[in-house]
Amino acid sequence: MTAEPMIDSHGDQTAAAPAPVTVRASLSPSRAADFKTCPLLYRFRSIDRLPERPTVEQARGTLVHAVLERLFDLPAPARTPESAGDLVAPQWDRLLTEEPELATLFADGDTIGPQEFLRSATALLDGYFAVEDPRRLEPAEREALISAVVDDELLIRGYLDRLDVAPDGALRVVDYKTGGAPREAFEARALFQLKFYALVLWRTRGVVPRVLRLLYLKDAEVCDYAPDADELVRFERTVVALWRAIEQATARQDFRPRPSRLCDWCSHQALCPSYGGTPPPFPVAAAAPDPLVDARSRPVAPGADE
Ligand code: SF4
Repeated sequence: MTAEPMIDSHGDQTAAAPAPVTVRASLSPSRAADFKTCPLLYRFRSIDRLPERPTVEQARGTLVHAVLERLFDLPAPARTPESAGDLVAPQWDRLLTEEPELATLFADGDTIGPQEFLRSATALLDGYFAVEDPRRLEPAEREALISAVVDDELLIRGYLDRLDVAPDGALRVVDYKTGGAPREAFEARALFQLKFYALVLWRTRGVVPRVLRLLYLKDAEVCDYAPDADELVRFERTVVALWRAIEQATARQDFRPRPSRLCDWCSHQALCPSYGGTPPPFPVAAAAPDPLVDARSRPVAPGADE
């Protein structure tokens, strides 16, 4: 399946909405999706801030996102599979410099080795080239932090992988999916995140994105979704209600587990009552968060692919 080219370059930058003095809290799509998936998972990640050892799959996703971002730095005719392949090793070296713990991924000897890892990243890029021709695209934004205030007090923000703007001003939000997990287990979460970006863009630019696009690189498939304004109004209510539920759960220190297929990808089963574990004591600091520094939401790094 080949994605249709539709885009011309617009050099405009997405300006993060300045936080008005009334902003009480902020929420990212990943953390909102955590709460929706499992309140206890939200607590472990955003309140306890428990470390999660990076996995090979996550590292590969970060690497592929980095390569695809850099690919568009090249002049259009040079954006070939060979050029993308040439970016893999240097981008991995850069990531290792920035996050030395990534080197431990290959220390156990029970995972793939570094060379196979790089080859597998290149294979995902082949999947990308099967669905898009980057020589015919000039993204308006890449790995851009976007934000908006909803309900007069909640700052919603996140990094989108790519934003394309057509000559007629139509917006297309593109998200690269690199994971090998069954798509049906994560598609609702992926769509939730894309609607989150659509809501931010609508609130900041006054335009409902024409297309929300998921690019599944492993399967070389495209999944398009067309939101409308009524849907985004409802979605905004959902996000605000979700935030109120998070506030309530925080005040009560009550985050319950919600077991699902996604537990297979959870790093915290050992602490989860659904798996016989006991959560740590609720952190005292969580009772007095600083709302303007993403109080209960760990910043979500660009290129994160969940
Ligand atoms: S194991 Fe499942 S139920 Fe427990 S915290 Fe993780 S996602 Fe939630």
